[in-house]
Amino acid sequence: MQKVKLPKQLDPIKNAQKGAKYEGIMLSRDMGRLVEAVTDVADDIDIKAMFDIDAQGLAFFQGSLSTSVKLVCQRCNEIYEQAISTDFCFSPYSSSQNIDDLPDVYEPVEVNDHGEINLVELFEDELMLSLPIVAMHPEEDCKVSANEMTFGKIEPAVEQPNPFAVLKELKQNQE
Ligand SMILES: [Zn+2]
Repeated sequence: MQKVKLPKQLDPIKNAQKGAKYEGIMLSRDMGRLVEAVTDVADDIDIKAMFDIDAQGLAFFQGSLSTSVKLVCQRCNEIYEQAISTDFCFSPYSSSQNIDDLPDVYEPVEVNDHGEINLVELFEDELMLSLPIVAMHPEEDCKVSANEMTFGKIEPAVEQPNPFAVLKELKQNQE
């Protein structure tokens, strides 16, 4: 099945009034910052987005993004593939609007002078935020085991706690 390409830019209010639903892709090559941030990225970003008006009359759109990137493992220096996915829920507003009362479930996104938002940039930002802070294989797949990590550049994420230190802490908390 031919995958539908999502519009790069659209009017979120109009789409909300229509109750528009999109299921398709964007091309990762349109997302230069994402391409730069990773070793490689799959050609397609899979996207689901639905636009609607809520009970309060606020326009919003929510959905999910997913793709796959290649990163360099910071533990063994080998390239590995990592699936990334994220959910979003935005409410569009214009610069003249007060967004202090916007319910917390919505992330505000400002429309431009034409009442449109740049979906490519918005979704690229979301994907950048969902990249791991420290790229690493799952431990079982990594060439470098946690034991060998002692001399590595990065400390193991989970250090074996000294059982006595834990006891000491417990005792201090009780005092
Ligand atoms: Zn690794």
